[in-house]
Amino acid sequence: MKVKEILTKILLIEIFKGLALTLKMLFSKSVTVQYPFEKRNIHEGFRGRHALVRDPISGDDKCIGCMRCTTVCPSRCIHIKREKRENKMVVIDYIIDASRCVYCAYCVEACPVCALVLTEDYEYSSYERKGLIFNKEKLLKNWDEFSAKWPADYYFNKFWQPPGIDPSRWPKTKREQGPVPLKRGVEIKREVKNEQLPS
Ligand code: SF4
Ligand code: SF4
Repeated sequence: MKVKEILTKILLIEIFKGLALTLKMLFSKSVTVQYPFEKRNIHEGFRGRHALVRDPISGDDKCIGCMRCTTVCPSRCIHIKREKRENKMVVIDYIIDASRCVYCAYCVEACPVCALVLTEDYEYSSYERKGLIFNKEKLLKNWDEFSAKWPADYYFNKFWQPPGIDPSRWPKTKREQGPVPLKRGVEIKREVKNEQLPS
């Protein structure tokens, strides 16, 4: 062992180096957020909780039961119950097991009528597995909750503008959430700013 190495060990140089780094980081700007009291901005294209888009005219979902979403889903977590009534396919129930979903959004891309979306909602954890199994009623409720939160953007995800959707429903605005202030015990309010996207 060299003299320098021996001195380093005796004088605890490495320990002091570590303590100096700790001290330096103590006074540098934090890169973590104190969730749930602080929340990061959601980026456009974020893939969160599933929802069935409610048709504003009929008030029901827009699904035509074509089964494309179930076919492309790599996790096999979409189950559709449908039946034929008077030469028309009627969707009785639409079930997504979100606990198995990998959020690839293939189902959204494959849908010819834009009946399904992945919303920007990400706070839907559950202590029970059944809390992550969404049926048709729950998926429509997810849409209602999401569209109530962002009324300015009917169809929000500019990355997915699939054919078949009315272009007037494509997003015209860019949303920015203001940073949520860190105040414990105080209700968190999000600021929403709408800005025109460059054409
Ligand atoms: S996002 Fe992907 S894994 Fe999840 S339901 Fe859709 S196709 Fe299946
Ligand atoms: S692809 Fe769209 S229309 Fe077809 S079954 Fe799935 S959600 Fe319904």
